Amino acid sequence: MTHPHPSVDSCHRSSIGPIDTPDRLLLGPGPSNAHPTVLQALSRTPIGHLDPLYVELMGEVQELLRYAWQTDNRLTLPMSGTGSSAMEATLANTIEPGDTVLVAVKGYFGNRLLDMAGRYRANVQVIEKPWGEAFSLEEIEAGIKKYKPAILAMVHAETSTGICQPMEGIGDLCREHDCLLLLDTVTSLGGVPLYLDAWKVDLAYSCSQKGLSCPPGLGPFTMGPRAEAKLAARQDKVPNWYLDVSLLNQYWGSDRVYHHTAPVNMNFGMREALRLLAEEGLDNAWARHRRNAQALWTGLESLGLEMHVPEELRLPTLTTVRIPEDVDGKAFSSHLLNSHGIEVGGGLGVLAGKIWRIGLMGYNSTPENVDRLLNLFETELPRFRQNAAVAA
Ligand SMILES: *Cc1c(COP(=O)(O)O)cnc(C)c1O
Repeated sequence: MTHPHPSVDSCHRSSIGPIDTPDRLLLGPGPSNAHPTVLQALSRTPIGHLDPLYVELMGEVQELLRYAWQTDNRLTLPMSGTGSSAMEATLANTIEPGDTVLVAVKGYFGNRLLDMAGRYRANVQVIEKPWGEAFSLEEIEAGIKKYKPAILAMVHAETSTGICQPMEGIGDLCREHDCLLLLDTVTSLGGVPLYLDAWKVDLAYSCSQKGLSCPPGLGPFTMGPRAEAKLAARQDKVPNWYLDVSLLNQYWGSDRVYHHTAPVNMNFGMREALRLLAEEGLDNAWARHRRNAQALWTGLESLGLEMHVPEELRLPTLTTVRIPEDVDGKAFSSHLLNSHGIEVGGGLGVLAGKIWRIGLMGYNSTPENVDRLLNLFETELPRFRQNAAVAA
C-alpha cells in the first residue's frame, strides 16, 4: 500500500523578500562593524574543514591570536561559538567539582562567570565592587587569602560599566597562592594594552565581534601551562563535550582529528581580522583606540555630559556616559538608531536607564565616527530634554 504524500500546507508563509538589512554604524557594546576586508573573506567559497589549505589557515589564526594576546600558549584557538562559549570553556576545562572559584565581580559579566562556575559545581565565592569601580591589589589579596581559591576569575574590560581593571601584581599574587588566574578579555583584545604572559594570566577568552572587527561567531580561547597541568590531572572527563580542549586540541593540534565541522568562513574572517590587526601593529591599534576615545570624552564633556568612570580607569573601547536627569535616554538612542542609523547601548542591571554605552572598537574607532556622534549629541540631544519645548 502506498501512502499519499501530504500536500504542502499553503497556510505557511513561503514567499519572503530577499534580505535587506540597512548599513548601521554600530557604536554600542558590540557587535561593532566588521572591516570590509573581513566581510569579503566571509563570503568566499568554503573549503573543507580538513583540507590541507584550511589546516594551514588554522595555524595562521592560532599564531596571530598569540600575537594579539602576547602569549606563547600552545593551547590557543577560536572556539566555535561566541565569547560566552570561550568563557564557558575556560571554566569547564579547569573546574573539578568542589574546587573553590573566587569571582571578582564589578559588573554584569562577572556575574555571568559566577553563574557558569556554579553550574560546573565549583564552590563559588565572590568579592564585589560597585558597578563603575575596579579592585585594588589589596582587595584581591584579601580575597585570595580568605578563600584560598583554585581559580581567581575576573573581567579585564567590564563592558557593562566601562571599567578597565588594573592588572599589575595580580598574576604574581595568584602564583604565590597557587591559584590560576582567569581573565575575560572580551572588550580589551585588539583595543586595550594586554600582555597575557607578562601578566601571568593562565586562562583567557575573547570574542570576534568587538575589538577584532569581525562579526559575532567565534570565541578566542587560550590556556597556559599551569592550567594545562590542571586539565591533565583531572579525575573525570571535562563535563562538556563540545568545549573539551583535550578533544579540540586533537583537531587544532598536530593530529587534525575531526571533532566538529569548523565554521570555516568565520575562520576566514578571523584570519583577516587578526592579520589586519598585526599589520597595523598592537601598539598603533592601542594608541588609535586611546586617541579616539579621548576625543570622544573631551567632546562629550564639553557638551556638559558626565562620564561614569574616572579617567584613569576608563576603557578606550567602551565609554559609559551618564544620562542627564531631564533626558529620556532610551528615546534618544532610539532616535539615533531610527533616524541616523547609529546604535549606542543602554545600561545593564543597576545601571539600566542611567547610562549610555558607546563603543569605539576595532574598525569603528575612527575620528570620523567620533565627530559624527558628537555632532548628533550637540544638535539632537537638546530636543530630548524634558523642558525642551519650554526652552525653545
Ligand atoms: C560581550 C561580552 C561577553 C560575551 O560575549 P558574547 O560574544 O556575547 O557571548 C563576555 N564578557 C564581556 C566582558 C563582554 O563584553
